[in-house]
Amino acid sequence: MSYQPNDRGYYGQFGGAFIPEMLYPNVEELREQYLTIMADPEFQREFQSLLRDYVGRPTPLFYAKRLSEKYNTKVYLKREDLCHTGAHKINNTVGQILLARRLGKKRIIAETGAGQHGVATATVCALMGMECIVYMGKIDTERQRPNVERMRLLGAEVRPVTSGSQTLKDATNEAIRDWISNPVDTHYIIGSVVGPHPYPDLVARLQSVISEEMRKQLLEKTGSELPNYVVACVGGGSNAAGAFYHFLDEPSVQLVAVEAAGHGIDSGHSAATSVLGKPGIIHGSRTLLMQDEHGQITEPYSLSAGLDYPGVGPLHAHLAVSGRARFISIDDEAALYAVAELSRLEGIIPALETAHALAALAQLGAGPDDVVVVNLSGRGDKDLETYLKYAEKLNSYASNSASN
Ligand SMILES: *Cc1c(COP(=O)(O)O)cnc(C)c1O
Repeated sequence: MSYQPNDRGYYGQFGGAFIPEMLYPNVEELREQYLTIMADPEFQREFQSLLRDYVGRPTPLFYAKRLSEKYNTKVYLKREDLCHTGAHKINNTVGQILLARRLGKKRIIAETGAGQHGVATATVCALMGMECIVYMGKIDTERQRPNVERMRLLGAEVRPVTSGSQTLKDATNEAIRDWISNPVDTHYIIGSVVGPHPYPDLVARLQSVISEEMRKQLLEKTGSELPNYVVACVGGGSNAAGAFYHFLDEPSVQLVAVEAAGHGIDSGHSAATSVLGKPGIIHGSRTLLMQDEHGQITEPYSLSAGLDYPGVGPLHAHLAVSGRARFISIDDEAALYAVAELSRLEGIIPALETAHALAALAQLGAGPDDVVVVNLSGRGDKDLETYLKYAEKLNSYASNSASN
């Protein structure tokens, strides 16, 4: 079984490039060049130096003693929350902007939902002095004001999208339209392991630095490069792809992907794609997709904006169907509990997305000698407004988890 895409971008039955004719030259240029450019030592030198001095890599692998005691296993946290801008997303945008420059592009476009990818893109555009246009559903611009202001402060132009449901998928459509009109000078930075080939592979490779570092750090701390479990949350799947990448061909390592169950898998308000999804096409690739009996995409729900996506990347669809990864769904309540727990037990306030991965610790069945790595994809600052809204609940959870 291979977990790398074939030359047409297929992971098993998932992936490919389902794009309008007019987008073909843009995607084809990227497909022809990305591997050559990324293999160039000069590209690698610049990428590694920015990862080190700008992003702050390697991120620590932290042994979480009190959390380990609570779950009676050895829990290590991969601290992507300490990356510049507060999450793993910057690993990808730094890599893609270097790629864009080598392709001779002058202008960057991106789509964003909650605004986190927009901020990571605006950040690297400022760093490189490149024009940046971020498409964002008008409703999202109202819901995510602080991120809109961050992007503007960084010099990006945020274009509110008023078509359709005025959310992420409409912003994506608008970005694609822009790219079709500007094929020569523009690069489209996609923020997760989704989209037409080669994006899922490109983004997975750029994020794979996470598991590359994990192996070295585990060897140092535990005497073995291989843990028993690697756990990560999945929206589109980029932080999980990065955390799994260098363990995909190590069958002794159990890969655990955690999706958002929202109000509950069967509630009609969820984003548990691996359970509810069927094969379909979204954003240019064939993958598992939440859809109704007419093939219309159903609206996903999660309290966490970053997991609120109706599909998963094609690699993850393949990992789910082949059984290589175990998929667990965590609802809003359990995620909030995990926010309070990590805050009180380890002094780390996680992002709401990340809290889903942490909540899966209770379901792993890991033993006292097992090594579990949880990818701590991001920090909780951006979710403070949500945490304030649930303050009473979080505080009662917190005193609970500390006394247990
Ligand atoms: C965006 C985001 C996610 C979800 O995106 P993936 O591509 O699935 O990683 C998860 N955690 C954090 C902190 C995020 O900002």
